[in-house]
Amino acid sequence: MKDQIDELAVFGGTPAFQEKLYVGRPNIGNREQILQRIADMLDRRWLSNNGLYVQDLEKRIAKLLDVKHCIAICNATVALEITSRALDLTGEVIVPSFTFIATAHALQWQEITPVFCDIDPVTHCLNPWRIESMITPRTTGIVGVHLWGHPCNTEALTEVASKHNLKLMFDASHAFGCSHNGTMIGNFGDAEVFSFHATKFINAFEGGAVVTNNDDLATKIRLMKNFGFAGYDNVTYIGVNGKMNEACAAMALTSLESLDEFTQINYRNYKCYQSELAGIPGLKLYAHDEAEKRNYQYIVVEMEESVTQVSRDQIVKILHAENVMARRYFYPGCHRMEPYRSYFPHAGLLLPETERLTERVLVLPTGTAIDESDIRLICKILRFVLAHGISIRKQLQSALKPAHFAENQGEFQCTKH
Ligand SMILES: *Cc1c(COP(=O)(O)O)cnc(C)c1O
Repeated sequence: MKDQIDELAVFGGTPAFQEKLYVGRPNIGNREQILQRIADMLDRRWLSNNGLYVQDLEKRIAKLLDVKHCIAICNATVALEITSRALDLTGEVIVPSFTFIATAHALQWQEITPVFCDIDPVTHCLNPWRIESMITPRTTGIVGVHLWGHPCNTEALTEVASKHNLKLMFDASHAFGCSHNGTMIGNFGDAEVFSFHATKFINAFEGGAVVTNNDDLATKIRLMKNFGFAGYDNVTYIGVNGKMNEACAAMALTSLESLDEFTQINYRNYKCYQSELAGIPGLKLYAHDEAEKRNYQYIVVEMEESVTQVSRDQIVKILHAENVMARRYFYPGCHRMEPYRSYFPHAGLLLPETERLTERVLVLPTGTAIDESDIRLICKILRFVLAHGISIRKQLQSALKPAHFAENQGEFQCTKH
């Protein structure tokens, strides 16, 4: 363990971890089960096109969430595209900027303009009281994001949507297995979309699903994700290929069977971070509501630089050197990425909370690949760094000054998962 600043890996010490710890390292589940399912699938020679695994997965998800329809899709981005199209969204749609870029891209890909709305600084989700000021005659809908598995204020959003005759859908990519006032996520708005990407709570390698209680919408989405085929040789609609294949469904089923175990491990990790980070000035762990169902998939820390003295980006640099691959989700915010940055260069003026948060947030590793001793060590490093904030900041600045990238010391590329 580090007792001296020079022992930090960023200053040439040995990294605290020999191997990199990642945010979003995939949870695997029962290895024998997935391999057996793949073998059965090969024997059946039914690899895609609404196979048995896809049918089973859709049934199990609908039952688990107590929702009428579940349609498995190849990934959440395509699911968002199909759903927004099935809801006849056009013109402008109100979305948060503090989200993964796919929320905005799924709209822009269809030439629907995402209009970025600010968030609530406590929940990190859309601020419903800011929606009305963003509505124009071209607005057709709202896409809320249940960020970190925290439900949006669905009541207020439903009210504003119905008052202005807008469609309401949710990007629930983070919120599988979560509840809101006792109702499972999946039952809110016109439809909700889940992601089963490898890094998500439940994973299908790549995958997603749309869930809805609207029969007509479900029928339309089923057609759209399969080229509009209503039967052999009968196309009744324009569609794309959004089908989930059987290998992905096999993985998703296996992953789903470990849902309770993944939740327990994530919860254990969350509680460990909570106690280990307690009382570190300037650090605040994002609180998951334990009275509701949560998947505890994201360990989110907010930093107050005026207290910690080292910036969030410096902390990320320090942790990466120790092989803790913390991430700055969702930096810099969709509105500061292309093409939106060029379309709306001043969007940030209406997004003060988003801009503040993108500079403060740090996401730490969790999941089945991490144990409590890892977490204790990560937190020890954080505690040490923040106890010596001023000296470390000075040393980082002088260490970097002679280098050619002195100008750019806060900048670095986000590495992939
Ligand atoms: C992961 C994610 C997506 C995209 O999901 P894919 O299945 O990778 O297409 C969309 N929105 C949010 C908020 C996400 O986290």
